[in-house]
Amino acid sequence: MVDRVLVTLDGVVRDPDEPLITADDIGVLRGDGVFETVLVRDGKACAIELHLARLRRSAEALDLPEPDAGRWRTAVEAAVKEWGGDREGALRLILTRGRDGVDSETTAFVSVSPVPERVNKARTEGISVITLTRGISVDLAQNAPWLLMGAKTLSYATNMAALRFAARMDADDVVFTSTEHRVLEGPRSSVVIQRDKQLLTPPARSGVLPGITQRSLFAEAEKAGWECRYESFFTADLITADSVWLLGSVTLAARVASLDGLKMSPPDCAEEIVELVDRGVSRPWKMSDWAQG
Ligand SMILES: *Cc1c(COP(=O)(O)O)cnc(C)c1O
Repeated sequence: MVDRVLVTLDGVVRDPDEPLITADDIGVLRGDGVFETVLVRDGKACAIELHLARLRRSAEALDLPEPDAGRWRTAVEAAVKEWGGDREGALRLILTRGRDGVDSETTAFVSVSPVPERVNKARTEGISVITLTRGISVDLAQNAPWLLMGAKTLSYATNMAALRFAARMDADDVVFTSTEHRVLEGPRSSVVIQRDKQLLTPPARSGVLPGITQRSLFAEAEKAGWECRYESFFTADLITADSVWLLGSVTLAARVASLDGLKMSPPDCAEEIVELVDRGVSRPWKMSDWAQG
């Protein structure tokens, strides 16, 4: 059983222990590139078409050449086949600007690794979360497109630093807030709150990354009679919500069990929400579904 898979965009399965990136790769030098993280489950890459669509959008935001969806699809298929269908995996799509001053080719590859240890516990027991300021206004994304707020870029050092800060405070994860105390997102997840039969998530215009897991939940929840809305809300609304969820492609749904030290008990609909997410990410999405919604 392989525990790591590496495939380049020519569809060739590589030895994951062999070097692939050169020291002058701009992705390494400046974090200048984009990525996607995708759950491999039952031998399939969940919602892969939405991930390819978002990769294209992120690449566009960074003025990178348009990713060739067909080649990415082929590489993903080879990687998933190599990984097998007997356990989950975390699949990454990585695209960087390529080598500095050498040629204009981008660097692109697909990898699969085991899902992190924390995932199982987050899914079953929930997570403890602290709110941290991102120090920005919800208006910033629209006024400063060069900040690439809606793109999934490789520049994640501050996101990782926030998670380490949380760990020092004995918390599992983070909810970023704006200078207006509005809720934004997690360092690697979308925030959804539930009140009665209603689900809310902050709109993309407030500078959050449009989430694929959140989108998958909304698609299934609407079919099941929930009211789903993109609407801004405040830190205080987290405390008064019936439940708060961090949604991301690898963990899927993690219920916030404690928020800034305050315990939050599971709502009656907790299992339903988990099921809706599971169903949503296994839908047969099309790349064009990304633009609608
Ligand atoms: C990846 C990510 C999300 C959303 O995750 P999905 O995997 O698309 O569900 C939200 N916010 C940030 C900052 C992310 O990196």
